[in-house]
Formats: sequence, C-alpha cells, structure tokens
Amino acid sequence: MTKQMRRVLSVASEAVPLVKTGGLADVVGALPGALAGQGWQMRVMIPAYRGVLARLSQPREVWADPALFGGPARLVLGRVGTVEVMALDAPHLYNREGGPYAGAFGDFADNPERFAALCWAAAAVARDGDSGDWRPDVVHAHDWQGGLAPAYLRYYGGAAKTVITVHNIAFQGHAAAGRLGTLRLPAAEFHREGLEYWGNISTLKAGLMTADAITTVSPRYAEELMRPEFGLGLEGVIAARSGVLHGILNGIDDGIWNPATDPAIEPYSPRGMAGKARNRAALLAEFGLEAVPGPLAILVSRLTHQKGIDLIPEALDGFIAAGGGLCILGSGDPWAEAAMQGLVARHPGRVGMRMGYDEALSHRMFGGGDAVLVPSRFEPCGLTQLYGLRYGCLPLVAATGGLADTVIGASPAALAAGAATGVVFHPVDALALRQALRLLCELYADRATWAAMQRRAMKADLGWGASAARYGDLYESLIG
Ligand code: ADP
Repeated sequence: MTKQMRRVLSVASEAVPLVKTGGLADVVGALPGALAGQGWQMRVMIPAYRGVLARLSQPREVWADPALFGGPARLVLGRVGTVEVMALDAPHLYNREGGPYAGAFGDFADNPERFAALCWAAAAVARDGDSGDWRPDVVHAHDWQGGLAPAYLRYYGGAAKTVITVHNIAFQGHAAAGRLGTLRLPAAEFHREGLEYWGNISTLKAGLMTADAITTVSPRYAEELMRPEFGLGLEGVIAARSGVLHGILNGIDDGIWNPATDPAIEPYSPRGMAGKARNRAALLAEFGLEAVPGPLAILVSRLTHQKGIDLIPEALDGFIAAGGGLCILGSGDPWAEAAMQGLVARHPGRVGMRMGYDEALSHRMFGGGDAVLVPSRFEPCGLTQLYGLRYGCLPLVAATGGLADTVIGASPAALAAGAATGVVFHPVDALALRQALRLLCELYADRATWAAMQRRAMKADLGWGASAARYGDLYESLIG
C-alpha cells in the first residue's frame, strides 16, 4: 500500500541551486528529493532575491499580501529541477544588489524584517493554505532566518507542527528590543522564557522556544550545544529543550557530488583511479604549482575563526618541508584572507590560492586533491569532509561536531581494524594540527595503506537515505 503524501514546508534563506553561501543551502536543496522517496512532499520557501524568479519553471502566483513588512508581496510557486519552490517576491525587501544578507556596505540593516517577512508568509500559508489550498502538515524552519515561523504559528495560532534545525548556533538573529512592533512580535513574549536574549530579540531563540521539535545536523553537535563553549549563550535553552532535540547528520547529494559522473572532472571510481591522478596534475597546473611529492591538500572554506584558519600558518611549514602542497579556495575575514595570501608568498610553487566563491573549481579541487583540511573549532556537520570522503580526497579534521561523527581517524587501532578514512586531531590547536599533517604525510608515503583508505572512504554511505528516514520519522511522530 502506498503511503499518502504528507506535506512539509521548508523555510530557509538559501537553497541550492538558487542561492548558496554555505552548507545550509546544500541541505535545503537536497532534502525535498531525499524525502520524496519517504512519501513526503516538501516545498521550499525562500526569498525571491534578484534573479531567483527568472530561474523558476512554470511560475504562478499562489498567495499575495498587499502590505508585508512595508510593501506588496506575493508567493510564486515554481520548480527548479524536481524541487518545488515558493519564492517570496517582495521587491522592497529582496530585489537588491549583493548577496542574500549583505550588500557593498555590509549586512543589510533590515535583515530582521527581511526574514521575519519570510516567516510571516510561511505561517500564513501554514494557517490558511495557498490559493491552491496547499497547506503543510509540518513547517520545517532553518536557522535564525526561519526562527520566527514556528514563533508566529505559536503566538497567532495554526495547526501545523513545527521543526527548527540549527545549522550553526553562532548566528542567532539578534535585533534591538525596539523592533518588537515592526517584527510583529507580541510584547508579552519578550522575557527570558520567551524570545528575549540579554535585552535583545533573538529570532533563533524564538524558534527554539516555540518549535515542537529541534534538530541539529549531527549527534555530536547536539551534545556539544549544551556546553557554553559551543552553545554560545543558548546552551541553557538547548538543555531545557533537550527532550525534543535530535541530531541528524546531513547527507550529500549523489547527483552533484559523485566522482564517477561529475562533469567538472575526469571521472574515476574506487575501481579505476587513473582519472584522479590526471585531475591532480590538472589542479597543480591550474594553481601554478610545481610538482608536489607529498600529499596535495586542499582547503575549500569560509575563511573565519570558526574554521580554524589561523592555525594553518602556524602548522604548515613542516608539511611543506615534508613535500606537501596546498590549494586554497575561499573568502572571508580580511585577516584570514591575508594570512592565506601570506602562505602563498612564503611557499611559492607549493601553495596556491583563489580568493572568492567558485563551485566548479571546488569540484576540480576535490577531484584532484589528496586531502581536504577541515581544522574547525566547531562544525555543526560540515560538508567538505563528506565531499572529501566521496572523492578519495581524505579528510584531515578536528574532532568536533559532525567532523567527529563522519571521519574515522587513522589511529593504530583503526588502521589495524581496516576502518580508518582520514586523520582526526584534538585539541584544536596548532601543535595538534602540525602532528596531524605529519601523520598525513606518513600515511600518504605508504601507498598501500593510502589506497585502502581512499577506497574505504569512497565507498562509505554518505547519501541522504538514512537521514531522510529520520526526518520522516520525526515528522510522523509530530503529526501523530
Ligand atoms: P559552512 O556552511 O559553515 O560554511 P559547510 O562545510 O557545512 O560549512 O558547507 C560549506 C559549503 O560551501 C560546502 O558545500 C563547500 O564546498 C562550499 N564552499 C565554501 N567555500 C567555498 C568557496 N570559496 N567556493 C566554492 N564552494 C565553497
């Protein structure tokens, strides 16, 4: 017997392939396809940033509001590939030069209102349905931008069950208390057990306090979030709601991240790795590097303190001396960009860098690299280590969050058991990173061990199947 399709509305600020600044977009874009196989119809609601509407096929208006946070708005339902998207067209909020959150002069000052509007539209559809009478059983909000969707449903009524996923608790959606009115939030909810956070509003806290269930993107991060150094002020909230907290690992989209079919590279697989060697040579040439006798490492990352970028200059000299090389792709904080450029100057021919964001280049880097560095101080799930596993570009990771949950470090015991898939280090400091890089060189020099680790990593099950089933079970348990 086929199960009746139940409906979920996913509310987020980014979704692949329309707009992406980080892992959130990959997850939001992949979930609908993964859940379809479990009998769930998931629509994705995102803002219609400039250019988004033009990319929707079969667009049609399904909801309108003449006065949504300062201007007229409508929801346009359309498709991108197989994903059903509800794009919130509100030109006064979203039709702007720049990225989803910032323009040439930094973050948009009205970001709280911009994403409150998204949540308001989501709550309206959840409560009253769209013009086609499509109404979700579950609203699944993501991060602070989605935080007010469960909150509005709780404060103003609505039958839909709600889930909020924390992709990164460092971003909490703070706004001054004076904006309660413009954000359409009841003053009565502005207290410690509500949406107040040290005198301000936190839209993430509002979501955490009001959602029926909370998920985060790895089991380890779910545990870490109850500690001050990871919870970043919200550890008490998380601990208080730990009864409804679930850690569900992200998967990767096999259609996009598969070295056997990836159009950006010469294909290869565990059974035939010749393509990988050619991709490596092409990558060296692309970055203008000389021959690298040791492991060719890659870094594809936001360049920030979270990502442990400051540790790399302190730890890299020995790695380069031992024959290693490094290709860097990223952008971020000015100090971190300067530090990476400093490495290029210090190790000409061995370290290369491309500043900026380049999806196709990132595929070529995983295709040609031997190892991907992920020395994060905290990492809710992390995707680049998963791409590294899939591409036989072995991850060297800090033992935190989703990195710890997905990579099996090459300890003597793991090597003896034939289980290792990467290198894991702890604590997250320069000494441990230096030692990890030394181990990486030793493993790389032992060709049989390295090849076995690559094969094992590439065969690991990293797809969405198991995790989508967990989301499905969670939704099911809420609906009852
Ligand atoms: P976060 O979301 O914290 O940035 P994740 O590892 O979860 O970290 O996701 C990052 C995503 O963004 C991955 O898909 C990664 O490949 C991609 N990415 C990060 N920086 C770049 C870049 N400069 N160019 C292309 N892709 C990038």
